[in-house]
Amino acid sequence: MDNLLSLRPSWCEIDLSAVQSNIQALKSLLGPMIHIYMCLKSDACGCGIIPVATAASKSGVDGFAFGNIDKAIECRQAGITQPILVYPSCLPESASILAEYRLMPTLSTANEVTMWEAALNQPLKIFLKIDSGSFRAGAFPNQSLAAAKMIKQSKWLQLAGVYGHTMGSYGFDSPGYEQEQLNAFTGALADIETLGIKPPIRMISSSATVLKYPEVDLNSVDPGRLLMGINFDAIDERKIDIRPVLHAIKSKLIMVKDVSEETGAPFPPFFKKPFPKKIGLIPFGWGDGYPISSPQDTYVLINGQKAPVILPIHSEIMRIDLTNIKSAAIGDEVTLMGTSGNERIDLSDLARIWGMDHFSIQNAIGQKLQRVYINMPK
Ligand SMILES: *Cc1c(COP(=O)(O)O)cnc(C)c1O
Repeated sequence: MDNLLSLRPSWCEIDLSAVQSNIQALKSLLGPMIHIYMCLKSDACGCGIIPVATAASKSGVDGFAFGNIDKAIECRQAGITQPILVYPSCLPESASILAEYRLMPTLSTANEVTMWEAALNQPLKIFLKIDSGSFRAGAFPNQSLAAAKMIKQSKWLQLAGVYGHTMGSYGFDSPGYEQEQLNAFTGALADIETLGIKPPIRMISSSATVLKYPEVDLNSVDPGRLLMGINFDAIDERKIDIRPVLHAIKSKLIMVKDVSEETGAPFPPFFKKPFPKKIGLIPFGWGDGYPISSPQDTYVLINGQKAPVILPIHSEIMRIDLTNIKSAAIGDEVTLMGTSGNERIDLSDLARIWGMDHFSIQNAIGQKLQRVYINMPK
């Protein structure tokens, strides 16, 4: 598919050196004793799971956490050797293929322990998840002891770790909720440890938690967005220098034409005065991740100059006002994000221009456009 996408003159640039420097920055923040399980959900926030995992695996991550089994297997096939945790998304029927690829699924309930044990005829490392207040997968704190006991007594299941996930940083904050979730998790973990079970991996910190609650680093963390360069400026308990992995979004002019009152075509009502004298088109629209309802002052860069976008944009195409860029010609590069001459639109500028957050931009753009990787690790 990537080959066919490369026929289109629109693309995004993914900077793999940013993946590496973000991991290094987190490692120096946490020190050598804390394991980093890099979370690569949603095709690594739209940046492509295999190149990102490959770069990360050369930068000292201790393991990976994936949302689904298919991407985890693809990464194994691509040569990733680190431990891989698969978040809740698998059925016991995939137990033997998980074992074959050394993937560790997540179990939640006593019932699941029984089902997975019955599906196996070989050892399988698994994680137990504790649901400390998100009401998704995981054993509730009052059920986790029983589930851990059953895993300990099982023939084939080997407990690789216990983890949880808090819902504080996804727009669901309310006073005390995050702290209560953390307390419920660490309490349940302590109960399990009183059984004489010491889970090798103990983990509750995603991006926002690792920045805000240093006291729950435990012995492992599983941030995703932070390592992909999404910044969390609103949190200042811990500071870390993070670089965006999405480096640039580019297209090319596929048409340029002069316009005037004399064309024989009426000016459309959505053109604002003064009317443009020259327009260009780029093959990039809301189907590619551009927001359908964009703010009025949206612009792009061409030959180092700002050029306004003429709204509305369409599914695959948008108009650019080239009145002030006399030199603009078919084939010229158009920068939606990145550097052009002395001008620059960075991810934060784009978030403001598009009225979207960093994560949603990266996710929307990377899933749909051709991805050009820069600064590939050796
Ligand atoms: C998504 C997820 C993470 C990573 O979250 P970020 O906010 O991207 O750091 C960590 N753990 C679990 C269980 C998740 O589902």
